[in-house]
Amino acid sequence: MTNNQLFENTKVAFQLKTDSELERAYFLFKMISHEPLVRIGTAATNFALKAHLPVEGLIRSTVFDHFCGGVNEEDCLKVIDKMYESGVSSVLDYSVEGKETEAQFDAAMEKTLKIIRFSDDRDAMPIAVFKPTGFGRFHLYEKKSQGKSLSADEQNEWDRVVARYHAVCKLGKEKDVEILIDGEESWMQDAADILVEEMMSHYNTDKPIVYNTLQLYRWDRLDYLVQLHKRAIKQGFKIGVKIVRGAYMEKERERAHEKGYRSPICDSKFETDRNFNDTMKYILENINDISVFVGTHNEVSNYIAMNLMDKLNIAKNDNNVWFGQLYGMSDHISFNLAAAGYNVAKYVPFGPVKDVMPYLIRRAEENTSVAGQTSRELNLIKKERQRRKLDD
Ligand SMILES: Cc1cc2nc3c(=O)[nH]c(=O)nc-3n(C[C@H](O)[C@H](O)[C@H](O)COP(=O)(O)OP(=O)(O)OC[C@H]3O[C@@H](n4cnc5c(N)ncnc54)[C@H](O)[C@@H]3O)c2cc1C
Repeated sequence: MTNNQLFENTKVAFQLKTDSELERAYFLFKMISHEPLVRIGTAATNFALKAHLPVEGLIRSTVFDHFCGGVNEEDCLKVIDKMYESGVSSVLDYSVEGKETEAQFDAAMEKTLKIIRFSDDRDAMPIAVFKPTGFGRFHLYEKKSQGKSLSADEQNEWDRVVARYHAVCKLGKEKDVEILIDGEESWMQDAADILVEEMMSHYNTDKPIVYNTLQLYRWDRLDYLVQLHKRAIKQGFKIGVKIVRGAYMEKERERAHEKGYRSPICDSKFETDRNFNDTMKYILENINDISVFVGTHNEVSNYIAMNLMDKLNIAKNDNNVWFGQLYGMSDHISFNLAAAGYNVAKYVPFGPVKDVMPYLIRRAEENTSVAGQTSRELNLIKKERQRRKLDD
């Protein structure tokens, strides 16, 4: 049976953190546990960056260095190599958001292609990632999702989105680097789902290269997966999915309420948890057809996955099962899983300080609003501080 106290080992969890890095993490989580401070800090930072005040250095040495690997991919190598020595791989995540021009979409695609080439000769980076709206306009996905017909110009624009997906997935297959495609808002996701399925049918014929994302705070996703599974068997391709709970809950609920349709989000956290764990079970029971990247900081879901793998005789290092957390969060899960022999990869965000601010603000807000998560990080850091003191 699996050890359900695995994540309590703080020595393994924080093995890469020096005493001063541990103190910085403590200070940071303490700060972001105060909601008013996060609100004021966010507004002040946005203002200071817009006014070109010299705050980048301060941001870099605090929140940026904790949650990001660097400003470019070379910059991240130190973090990547260090984590890999402890068995934790990296998924380099170019976290620049909110860009809307064709040149910016091409630049994001080029960045992803560069990361795949960069990954090619590095065992520490077996996986690459991109966001649908990194490669095309949100409203174009939305219009496609609504089934509306596109103008001739829009159709050309969409063809360019499709070409970007093909370029990345094709190179992923050539270089044997798996491609995760993030999940976003439900009202643009249908178009992305159809496109990603097309990629899977092209590139996942021998093994899963392309992975879609299932956001399991959505109550309709297990049904979607079951249907996708039937189509994949019929057409002869493997499914890759990253499973997460989902990051846009408030926005989803507000929009549904405003427009008067049934919210796509489960009614409670309990329902989301059940949906996540049931879907994980379905996948692990069909592991020959469906490969999975389990993206969660939830300890219980990670323990359930480990126990199910044990029960179903899936080897800990089976390449069809990966676990993943975000850099700067839940090291107690990532490093203990890796030490126990599981495949683990952390998302390592990078990009110019100014451009990754929306990502950093989401992390700060998430750690403020996700009940218990910040206090969990703080308690673990306190425990490790104590352990180091006793060891001295
Ligand atoms: C490696 C990785 C990749 C990720 N990629 C994506 C991605 O592509 N797209 C994306 O949207 N998110 C992504 N996320 C973020 C993820 O969706 C979650 O927001 C985050 O991980 C918190 O969920 P959890 O399972 O870790 O933890 P938990 O703390 O157990 O769960 C919190 C989550 O539960 C859900 N929830 C909370 N309260 C309620 C409620 N009252 N009713 C219903 N549901 C509720 C919400 O989704 C909330 O984020 C990713 C996360 C990781 C670790």
